[in-house]
Amino acid sequence: MSREDYEAVIGLEVHAELSTKTKIFCSCPTSFGAEPNTHICPICMAMPGTLPVLNEKVVEYAVKAGLATNCEISEDSKNDRKNYYYPDLPKSYQISQFDKPLCKHGYIEIEDENGNKKKIRLLRIHIEEDAGKLNHDDLGGGSLVDLNRAGVPLIEMVSEPDLRSADEADRYLRKLKSILEYIEVSDCKMEEGSFRADVNVSVKKKIDAKLGTRTEMKNMSSFRSISRAIEYEIERQIDVLENGGTIEQETLRWDDVSGKTFSMRNKEDANDYRYFPEPDLVAIKLSKEYIENIRKNLPELPESRYERYLNEYKLSKKDAGIIVSSKYLSNLFEEASEICNNRKAVGNWIISDISRILNEKEMEPNNIPFTAEHLAHLIMLIDKGTISSSIAKKVLEELFESPREPEKIIEEKGWAQISDEGAIKEIVLEVLKNNPQSIADYKAGKDRALGFLVGQAMKMSKGKANPQMLNKMFIENMNNE
Ligand code: ADP
Ligand code: ZN
Ligand code: MG
Repeated sequence: MSREDYEAVIGLEVHAELSTKTKIFCSCPTSFGAEPNTHICPICMAMPGTLPVLNEKVVEYAVKAGLATNCEISEDSKNDRKNYYYPDLPKSYQISQFDKPLCKHGYIEIEDENGNKKKIRLLRIHIEEDAGKLNHDDLGGGSLVDLNRAGVPLIEMVSEPDLRSADEADRYLRKLKSILEYIEVSDCKMEEGSFRADVNVSVKKKIDAKLGTRTEMKNMSSFRSISRAIEYEIERQIDVLENGGTIEQETLRWDDVSGKTFSMRNKEDANDYRYFPEPDLVAIKLSKEYIENIRKNLPELPESRYERYLNEYKLSKKDAGIIVSSKYLSNLFEEASEICNNRKAVGNWIISDISRILNEKEMEPNNIPFTAEHLAHLIMLIDKGTISSSIAKKVLEELFESPREPEKIIEEKGWAQISDEGAIKEIVLEVLKNNPQSIADYKAGKDRALGFLVGQAMKMSKGKANPQMLNKMFIENMNNE
């Protein structure tokens, strides 16, 4: 057999922390980054005798996520105990959902390798609590438990094994992340662990219907690592099979530095967890009206904005894709266009320079420091001829560094475009004096000479001279000589 006879099968279990103000079973805050063990109470510390109370917002957010991913919402659902021991889990069980998840049988659409729509099915979405965190103390030895995260609400979104490549998995994750951001149920900050995936990978011969044995890599929270890990794992598994070996069902650890996976432990089965219904909580019964009300109030989803950008605004698929990939960028696009009345320019700035700077700074669009108004005003200044587009690029860099009104930046830096006839004429005459050869070339019909002269004049004026006026005045002067 050769490698071409195999195909990869990938299924993802995504955990997203919900952005409710308080935890799932107590009223401690969920905010990230506090001093260890300051967001805790007897309930999330698992003191004996305390009782959980379900936060209704958690149910609402999970239902929202289910509706946005085309799931059926269960009117009859419940919580279960998943029993396991770990030092960051003081109760020794996690309250989760087993056989009656809130949402089931959904799907989201991605584009496959050929740009065709492909449905990736979601088996289920359930709610559960996050665990605390162990901080390994290398100096003092041992580990310190921080329970701030214990009881932060999560949804787990389990895909069917429908993905066939690292690339598809990447597109699925990005799509899912953007949906959650649009409906505002999670901030999906991967660097803070609020959007993370368990990655299941197997390979099989294309002609076989039966899926191969999978391995699982838990808690991955970078798109790049996930893609690399999947690609590595596919190759590794094919090698094992080609050499007559078998794949063990096990949990692996991806090491970003060596670019390899390592065995951690054999995978546990569901019955190892001894799931049973949580006796301290009542069942979750949802009325049709409750569900319909959430459906009615869902905000516009990326899919619909994408279609609108193609059909109404005539953006290319690629450009529309970049803009809707982040709700923040998409809102920036809509709001700034509204103010400056130049949708095309706003789109171009987002796709080119803003995206480039985000990339260079490795910044998430949500962290863009300036407002839609700032961007709109910048574009209006170009449209009015106050600044050239090369100066505008410098203003944009300033907006990223310390956001303030573009007018003010231009004034402070002395960047306003020179459109005064007298001043332009002075520059033109000076440049002509220094470049007699270019004049001769121009007269001999070499158009490039004009470009060169304008370039010199721009340089001399530090990019501030009005290029249209320069052009016109050079031609006039040379033709009159
Ligand atoms: P758990 O990993 O918690 O035991 P499941 O048995 O429900 O849970 O499987 C979890 C994930 O593994 C799902 O996303 C599913 O799509 C994926 N999966 C199941 N079988 C395979 C397989 N043979 N290859 C790749 N992924 C798989
Ligand atoms: Zn608490
Ligand atoms: Mg799993």
